[in-house]
Amino acid sequence: MLTIINVLTASLVVYISLIENGNFDLAALVSAAGVRCSRCGTGACAVLHSKWYRKQVTDLSTGAVHQHVPILRVIFCDGSSTSLKHAELWRGRYTISSVLETINHVLAAGLNEALEWTMYAGGGEQMVSERTLRRWTRRVVSRLGPLSDYLGLVAPPEAVTPAEKLALLLDQIEPADLLRFRTLTGYGLLDKPAPEPKTSLTTVRPRPGHLPPAPPHDPPSHYLPRGTRYGPHRSKPPPEG
Ligand SMILES: [Zn+2]
Repeated sequence: MLTIINVLTASLVVYISLIENGNFDLAALVSAAGVRCSRCGTGACAVLHSKWYRKQVTDLSTGAVHQHVPILRVIFCDGSSTSLKHAELWRGRYTISSVLETINHVLAAGLNEALEWTMYAGGGEQMVSERTLRRWTRRVVSRLGPLSDYLGLVAPPEAVTPAEKLALLLDQIEPADLLRFRTLTGYGLLDKPAPEPKTSLTTVRPRPGHLPPAPPHDPPSHYLPRGTRYGPHRSKPPPEG
């Protein structure tokens, strides 16, 4: 049986089904999302406010397209409201993990190769512009440090370049980490920070007692096998070559 807390980190297919069928526990979702009321200090007072939809979310790695992705919005007793976003969602049209995977290719092989790589997912069509890729890359590289700190990940001494650091993170990062990053910072990993971070979110700090996992013995590969991230929801086989 799927535990309730997994709803926001389940595959998007499962998530959409659970939300659309009302098969979720709101309090557990609020807790998993890490959102809280400024008056209560917890999320216990949250009530369902509305449901909105992201028109389309694409996985740049597999080409899987998710349409009409529901997002629940809750309201707290202090009058503020917030969205309970799935781990993979941000303002953009692509899943966070597949964008990270793409940037991994940018850093390891260059923009042109990364653009070509994303074209596989688009069945030969250009999925993102060079300009967008540059923007994503700048943003992610600038967040590698905070991301490691927030998530308690430790880079081995040999991981000195952004490419090595990102590859290491990709080896360790889980959907729950993407959720945690949003809880701690108030924005999705690929989002621009909100101009006014919510006070309820800025009070959360990494837990000192949370030990990071040991770094892998072998240096991570710069290339991840396509479609291996969060395996179960990857539906398409990898392209030839
Ligand atoms: Zn409250």
